[in-house]
Amino acid sequence: SRKPRRILITGGAGFIGSNFVHHWCTNYEGDRVVVLDALTYAGNRQNLASLEGKANFRFVRGNICDRALIDSLLREEKIDTVAHLAAESHVDRSILGPDAFIQTNVVGTFTLLESFRHHWIEEKQPATYRFLHVSTDEVYGSLEPDDPPFRETTPYAPNSPYSASKAGSDHLARAYYHTYGLPTIITNCSNNYGPYHFPEKLIPLMCINILLGKPLPVYGDGQNIRDWLYVGDHCRALDTVLHRGRPGETYNIGGNNEVKNIDLVYRLCELMDELAPELPMRPSRQLITFVKDRPGHDRRYAIDATKMRQELGWTPQETLSSGLRKTIEWYLNNRNWWQPLLSQEYQTYYQKVYGQV
Ligand code: NAD
Repeated sequence: SRKPRRILITGGAGFIGSNFVHHWCTNYEGDRVVVLDALTYAGNRQNLASLEGKANFRFVRGNICDRALIDSLLREEKIDTVAHLAAESHVDRSILGPDAFIQTNVVGTFTLLESFRHHWIEEKQPATYRFLHVSTDEVYGSLEPDDPPFRETTPYAPNSPYSASKAGSDHLARAYYHTYGLPTIITNCSNNYGPYHFPEKLIPLMCINILLGKPLPVYGDGQNIRDWLYVGDHCRALDTVLHRGRPGETYNIGGNNEVKNIDLVYRLCELMDELAPELPMRPSRQLITFVKDRPGHDRRYAIDATKMRQELGWTPQETLSSGLRKTIEWYLNNRNWWQPLLSQEYQTYYQKVYGQV
């Protein structure tokens, strides 16, 4: 006997956003779901094609910095829950051009918080309202090999314009709880992978380049460590936090899957050799090419998700092996999804980041 929610999902046409929208619409058919997305290079309305036309679903193309638009959406749709996933999300792009990161991640989050605060006051501050701010573990900076994983209490030390902008937005979400009592909750999650992941990100990039017989660019010595989580597990975690998390709290979400980048690329090569019917180059690992390291490249991220497990009972369902297999199968079966994304803009970006490889 759950009371239906009226949820605004920002960034719902992006990677995690679209997975989250599908998760929500499948599990809570009676809820009103409104997606707000600017459809930047990373947003793709195709990701939500199967929901278009459903009575409880609405897609709005718009910018989270547009205060008037958000004010009217919250009021008109009687929104009681915001899941905020819209962001500029790619570290390499934040190094090439940080402006959009400050605009969307800092100013956009501020605009949403401010609009939601006024809406919440207008509605007499219902205790059921929630603002879920979805963030990253990168705000905690870089770990040394022997450091314990990030906890919710780890001090912030962002190193890239991307993580600095996310840190700024986290601080705002936190301040809105402490200053105004607005029921905000923050989640900091490790690296995600899975369906609908834009080709520029490590895992899809490697799979697609293997299929095309192109070099596999690995930064520096390949020894950087990331902690990987299947996107479906992240979506279940966000659902759990929205339903049972405590306002004003932060929750770290991670899969306990620390892997060196080079080892991840080896695993992807092996899986592709096994699963892809025809490949231009076999074994795929011959394609690996080390390239100049990313400036300010964090060495290691790792999440301690004890609070999620103990307080909210959440644990990941996928292992890295099962999740990678699912992901590769999705990319093999959905070439029509990713092929058009390898546009001229993408090629230009790619050359800037990896040079001539
Ligand atoms: P993404 O880049 O795939 O999607 C972002 C979406 O936001 C796109 O659809 C884009 O069109 C939209 N958007 C961008 N600027 C906007 C604006 N000004 N107004 C409205 N919409 C705008 O990103 P993602 O990987 O799905 O990440 C979603 C969220 O999760 C981000 O906040 C990110 O920081 C966070 N996060 C991502 C990861 C990860 O591994 N991908 C891990 C932890 C946290």
